[in-house]
Amino acid sequence: MSKNLILVLNCGSSSLKGAVLDNDNGEVLLSCLGEKLTTPDAYITFKKDGQKHRVELADRHDHTGAVGALLDELKKYGLDADVKAVGHRVVHGGEKYSASVLINDEVIAQLEACIPLAPLHNPANLTGIRAAQAIFAGLPNVAVFDTAFHQTMPEHAYTYAVPRALYKKYAFRRYGFHGTSFRFVAPEAARIIGKDVKDCRLVIAHLGNGASITAVKNGESQDTSMGFTPLEGLVMGTRSGDIDPAVFGFLAENANMTITQITDMLNKKSGLLGLSGLSNDCRTIEEESGKGHPGAKLALDVFIYRLAKYIGSMAVAAGGLDVLVFTGGIGENSDIIRERVLGYLGFLGLKADHEANLKARFGNAGVITTADSAAVAVVIPTNEELMIAHDTARLSGL
Ligand code: AMP
Repeated sequence: MSKNLILVLNCGSSSLKGAVLDNDNGEVLLSCLGEKLTTPDAYITFKKDGQKHRVELADRHDHTGAVGALLDELKKYGLDADVKAVGHRVVHGGEKYSASVLINDEVIAQLEACIPLAPLHNPANLTGIRAAQAIFAGLPNVAVFDTAFHQTMPEHAYTYAVPRALYKKYAFRRYGFHGTSFRFVAPEAARIIGKDVKDCRLVIAHLGNGASITAVKNGESQDTSMGFTPLEGLVMGTRSGDIDPAVFGFLAENANMTITQITDMLNKKSGLLGLSGLSNDCRTIEEESGKGHPGAKLALDVFIYRLAKYIGSMAVAAGGLDVLVFTGGIGENSDIIRERVLGYLGFLGLKADHEANLKARFGNAGVITTADSAAVAVVIPTNEELMIAHDTARLSGL
């Protein structure tokens, strides 16, 4: 019997992440990661049934070549004819898109118009769309935006206090990202406490290498920590998060740095990496902090304090707190960070359940607060690919 398989693509400028999901049961049948694309060293790694193997892309080293190699791999298993649609993670939909959309020429033109808002990401996403259109000719393509979920933010939450002309002329405002993850996690969290998402006040911390936190009320995003770009907000693997914008003038004058150099430093050399001088990887930071490394210890302290502070402010945006959710690689696995964050939140009535917190790791969901807590904290593994696959199937009429 023919399956309803959806190919989910997430393209970066030199990378391509792909997953083929069975839309009926959410199973991932094949996944891949193409790296160093557009260079002669390009290769793609496929994973099926826990086994990995690598294919060099020498003579077809661009994104289209990588998608072509993926089609060849699907043919090997006789799965190619079952792929019915392609879903694309698209970083920026601007103010135009508050939901996923079936891609046509007009949508492509709109995505091109959004390039100034996401100059690093949207061109790569468009490359992925064109590659899929060329290799999987005739299949429907769907764009699923990181920004879409946050289009419900009220004006007072998305507006920066700068001259109004900047918004009118350049659409300079807060957008927020990780929307697909928040949209997946919110109803799951409500289900765990036996409520409808529309009746819950949620604060969701998506903590991965990139990290952001969102307030959800009535099932809708009310505020989120990332802004015009993903740089704003929490401390991240390599991003500073919130910082006084005067740092640009200060470093230009005193360190002779250019705007590009400062932007690069704030995005790629700051956060856990910059503070520790060791790594952007939270596991390394935790290990070294445990051994007494002062930079790693400070990195963890700043990360945790900023996160706790943001949870308090997001509880304001949600009008209170019923459920605090931890997700993303760090949120799903770091019992250390979760317990220390909860330690700051006693005033909101949250009390960590030490044993439950230790159990909720490595893919295990669960409540991590004690029964007498005034609000519940839960760990929920996110699944952005599944969300993209479901949207893609729905909009493709499957
Ligand atoms: P993501 O971007 O969602 O894949 O998350 C990546 C982050 O999750 C990295 O900083 C990892 O170090 C972190 N992470 C993964 N496993 C663990 C773990 N067991 N303990 C702490 N952090 C973890």
